[in-house]
Amino acid sequence: MTYKAAHDRYETMPYRRIGRSGLKLPAISLGLWHNFGDDKNFQTQRDILRRAFDLGVTHFDLANNYGPSEGAAETNFGRHFKDDFAAHRDELIISTKAGYLMWPGPYGEWGSRKYMLASLDASLERMGLDYVDIFYSHRPDPETPMEETMGALDTAVRSGRALYAGISSYTPAQTLAAASILKEMGTPLLIHQPSYSMLNRWTENGDPNLFEALDAVGAGSIAFSPLAQGMLTDRYFKGVPADSRAAQEHFLHQHDLTEEKMTRVRALNDIAATREQSLAQMAIAWILREQTKGSPVTSALIGASSVSQLENNVAAINNLAFTEAELTSIDEFAVE
Ligand code: NDP
Repeated sequence: MTYKAAHDRYETMPYRRIGRSGLKLPAISLGLWHNFGDDKNFQTQRDILRRAFDLGVTHFDLANNYGPSEGAAETNFGRHFKDDFAAHRDELIISTKAGYLMWPGPYGEWGSRKYMLASLDASLERMGLDYVDIFYSHRPDPETPMEETMGALDTAVRSGRALYAGISSYTPAQTLAAASILKEMGTPLLIHQPSYSMLNRWTENGDPNLFEALDAVGAGSIAFSPLAQGMLTDRYFKGVPADSRAAQEHFLHQHDLTEEKMTRVRALNDIAATREQSLAQMAIAWILREQTKGSPVTSALIGASSVSQLENNVAAINNLAFTEAELTSIDEFAVE
């Protein structure tokens, strides 16, 4: 059936400015790392994307290697885009990344100019797009000079293949260096994509910590895996469902779901209940709170394997406020 976007799609989702840029992101964005490969039902993918857009989710995040197999999420997204979203291109922020292994040989991963620009061209072709909104260096390359990787992002922007430049999983020091090189080139660093959840606090550590470093350079952040790949939901309260990510034993492992961790997660679930939220909703709201040190996160980048998960997650926007007491008791159970 032909898709008609909901008329009320901009009425509830908050849009938050990325650092000191001109661009805003929805408080909740959707990632296509899992659930959009060739192993997933095409109609389910379509239903999730349509529902997301109808709920005001204007940002879809991809990478060259998302699948399985590598590239499949971009190819599938390209088909959904053509069928459903081509008329809405100017309402969408679509991102992709290069950094992880895509093809054999010495030019198939990391941060060389050779790899980054070839990968971006291939991503655009798979998605059937003229440009992406954000192009990321997916991971810092310890061997390639930062100037070369940032130069590739700058070229991507200057050549019109991307509108903005981003980095992912760079440390605070690497972030400051990347931002300074990009600034000199005239292409500001827009955004950093770190992992971040109640259970994963690396971004809060260091002097400056990542959020302080981003604040200093005027960049924003989008937190990936805010649900700790499903651990911060009720997904594993009654064992490991056959269709869950942990059952695949690939990126999330059953040995991660220790008795000790699940006890802490259940305690967090009790706190969520007092807020009349699901655990997933509280985990997302927590990402979007004011930081004590540095700028707040611009957007929570979730995954969803069904429309009902997506709807549950997006409803997090109905209660984004925390009391000091709630934050303290969350830390008591979430921080090891
Ligand atoms: P999440 O932490 O949001 O985990 C998503 C998974 O949690 C879902 O696939 C589902 O698992 C489960 N889930 C989600 N909502 C619910 C719910 N309401 N109730 C029960 N279970 C739920 O994020 P991801 O790890 O998927 O990462 C999100 C995005 O971040 C990626 O798609 C990608 O765009 C980006 N990312 C970036 C990385 C980088 O290096 N820059 C690395 C990793 C991710 P199940 O499948 O079991 O149903």
